[in-house]
Amino acid sequence: MSAPLPAAPGTGAAASGPTADAVIGVVGAGTMGAGIAQVAAWSGHRVVLFDIAPDFVARGTAGIARLLRRGAEKGRHTPDAAEAAIARIGGTVALDDLGPCGLIIEAAPERLDLKRDLFARLEAVVDAEAILATNTSTLSVASIAGGLARPERVCGLHFFNPAPLMPLVEVIRGPRTDPAVAATVVGLARLWGKTPVEAQDRPGFIVNRVARPFYGEALRLLGEGAADVATLDRLARDAGFPMGPFELMDLIGIDVNYAAACSVYEGFFHDPRFRPHPIQRAMVESGRLGRKTGHGYYAYPDPS
Ligand code: NAD
Repeated sequence: MSAPLPAAPGTGAAASGPTADAVIGVVGAGTMGAGIAQVAAWSGHRVVLFDIAPDFVARGTAGIARLLRRGAEKGRHTPDAAEAAIARIGGTVALDDLGPCGLIIEAAPERLDLKRDLFARLEAVVDAEAILATNTSTLSVASIAGGLARPERVCGLHFFNPAPLMPLVEVIRGPRTDPAVAATVVGLARLWGKTPVEAQDRPGFIVNRVARPFYGEALRLLGEGAADVATLDRLARDAGFPMGPFELMDLIGIDVNYAAACSVYEGFFHDPRFRPHPIQRAMVESGRLGRKTGHGYYAYPDPS
């Protein structure tokens, strides 16, 4: 465990509680993992950020540093606070380095086989008391934890994109999750300035289930030639949504959104209400994944 923490600079709140001084592990340094690592480091935790290749770790940590330094330039916080948070994050490609973590948040690709394998390997490196959380958008916590010796220590901790900015998090209790584990995670999320909502372990939980028709109907309209992407986005914004469905899919990652759509569709035994659209698959197969690749429903000359 790390030394007691200073006050969390994001909230001004003094860090306290059972896991306030825990080292936080984050698995997957992509869009969400980097954002989650930033949230934890900003709240005063030492963070170990894991990915499968040094380039991916470097891209994640560089992205965090860029965002925190840009925040300082814009006067949102001091340069010292930014540098201190950056210094609290260590990157690694060795899973064993996650051994000292009191909480590990997994943000690897949305594939059940991959997450189950990861959790089995994580269980082998952490202490008996460590909590293992998944940032899955749609997969069942019960399935992810199913093969473990201690499934009671696993819960969902689902952030939204961009994690440092979005207050909402879903905390998901699987059927075997210890209620005390979920309560600890809820408390920690509050300490990080988030608004936790407890959700049932159902496909898509609350938000991703509610959101499916938002994307699905827009894709059907596009597929039918009813309107183009920009028009459909503008209509959604005019109706009061902060972003249209296509710009949001570009932000999320079209591959990530498609994986979520497929997972909810499978989770509800191919209920046609949740059927993904062929346009999504075509976008993924052609490598147009949204902002992160520079091309999605829109073009992004400077992907960052
Ligand atoms: P991403 O593709 O941006 O990042 C995934 C990272 O995981 C990559 O850096 C990749 O190298 C790494 N990875 C691949 N295989 C791995 C392995 N075996 N072990 C560890 N790391 C591995 O994806 P993302 O958008 O950050 O999504 C990650 C998770 O978060 C998914 O479960 C997704 O459903 C969920 N999620 C995504 C969003 C979003 O808006 N993108 C929002 C909420 C939740």
